[in-house]
Amino acid sequence: MLGLMQDTPLLLSGILDYAAQFHGQQEIVSRTLDGGIHRYTFKDCEARTKQLANALTKLGVKKGDRVGTLAWNGYRHLEAWYGISGIGAVCHTINPRLFAEQIVYIINHAEDSYLLVDLTFLPLLEALQDKLPSVKAVILLTDEANMPETSLSNVICYETLIGKEQDEFTWPVFDENEASSLCYTSGTTGNPKGVLYSHRSSVIHSMMAARPDVMNLAADSIILSIVPMFHANAWGIPYAALMSGSKLVFPGMHMDGKNVYELLEKEGITYTAAVPTIWMMLLQYLEETGKKVETLEEVIIGGAAPPKSMIDAFQRKYNVNVVHAWGMTETSPVGTVCYFSAQHKKLPYEERLKLQCKQGRGVYGVELKITDDNNNELPWDGKTFGNLKVRGPWVVERYFKEEESATDEDNWFSTGDVATIDESGFMQITDRSKDVIKSGGEWISSIDLENTAVGHPEVQEAAVIGVYHPKWDERPLLIVVRKAGSQVTKEQILDYLEGKIAKWWMPDDVQFIEEIPHTATGKILKMALRKTFEDYKLP
Ligand code: AMP
Repeated sequence: MLGLMQDTPLLLSGILDYAAQFHGQQEIVSRTLDGGIHRYTFKDCEARTKQLANALTKLGVKKGDRVGTLAWNGYRHLEAWYGISGIGAVCHTINPRLFAEQIVYIINHAEDSYLLVDLTFLPLLEALQDKLPSVKAVILLTDEANMPETSLSNVICYETLIGKEQDEFTWPVFDENEASSLCYTSGTTGNPKGVLYSHRSSVIHSMMAARPDVMNLAADSIILSIVPMFHANAWGIPYAALMSGSKLVFPGMHMDGKNVYELLEKEGITYTAAVPTIWMMLLQYLEETGKKVETLEEVIIGGAAPPKSMIDAFQRKYNVNVVHAWGMTETSPVGTVCYFSAQHKKLPYEERLKLQCKQGRGVYGVELKITDDNNNELPWDGKTFGNLKVRGPWVVERYFKEEESATDEDNWFSTGDVATIDESGFMQITDRSKDVIKSGGEWISSIDLENTAVGHPEVQEAAVIGVYHPKWDERPLLIVVRKAGSQVTKEQILDYLEGKIAKWWMPDDVQFIEEIPHTATGKILKMALRKTFEDYKLP
């Protein structure tokens, strides 16, 4: 027997409608490219998004067409998100930090018909334009006064384009399973793969993301949305914030410690989210200037494992609660969050801190398991490492234009991460499966070693790779970037690690380099490090 309730499709346009209707005067604040501040309301955002919807429709953009964006976090990018998906087209957020060949590949693979582009990326597009046959025109996210000279053959000024249009538009109603947006993962090998989100997956993911144990968003939250809108949906914040009626602040391209600090203070930010690299810059800035953060209550850290020292600094020095989370482009992205129950809150601080280094428990909607290489389920004992698999309604089923499913027959998606899960369901990532160090048949977690090494006061950044060993197969090599002015030695670092890690995990050597290479999404590029140390022999 079917239930007798209304079957209203969950569409992203409904979030904007709700935001404008019930929180119309709520603010959206954006740092512009020139460093200025732009402010307007949800109501203004809705009106301009509807103008864009009219403009795109007149340009001939139809349901299912892909429209790309190459832009920083800001109000025009937000209008593009809602406007493109709202008319039933697919908003393809392009990560400008990818290599030029990858950008060409994904625009062609997606067959983007138009691109909405911040001025910053104009030179990039000028260089690539001959290789992008599907692109009919580039819409520059600027006004007439700032339109640059360009060699692009077909350019449109965004403000002029939408300025001609009515701010009345009736959003089409269609099946909630229609595609809403597209984001390519930046694997370290092979071509990027497209994750095609649906309206339904995005809306229910946002409802989950806003929950107290996840992002804790409410109408009185003031959110700094730092995670780029071109990376894993900015963790869903631009949807979850409007759904919650929260004030939303965008840093644009200015994500260094000083600029982030200024926005935190001037806008009275209560909540923010970003990868550890951003927090490293902010904490360094606070340390150098002796400044404090006044209004910030909580930061969510994900994308890579934050070192314990980072979580501790936020909490003890600055009185800001840290929430550690895990996810991936393929999971929309939120999968697990390290949230506490009442009994965890009673634990001594050091124990809580240790727990916070774990990526946490599944959120409602995401199932987890760990398996060995033969797909046998492994125990949740907090010690056994296994391949992490997930499934749920906002987890990828198949990559864009792929024939084959990305999951097994029971819908489990293999994340490529290696993890433990403890008795209470707290998951801890120990590695990417290709980065785990296999020593004498046992696994050593490179992430654990890196995070312990970063606790040394003179270590700026650390990376661990496995190096061939005739007896053990692989042994860990610790690669360190010293803090400016430091002369810390191998012996001092190994002394520091003594007692903090299992004896047999002790790196066989420490090598110092000037800079650790990162991927387009800020993760350590282990492949490049392996290449650099290709001919290296352990002592
Ligand atoms: P992306 O699709 O670019 O967001 O990358 C997803 C990958 O980032 C995951 O599969 C993990 O390897 C890594 N990752 C995300 N969050 C964390 C975290 N909190 N700790 C460790 N690794 C993480």
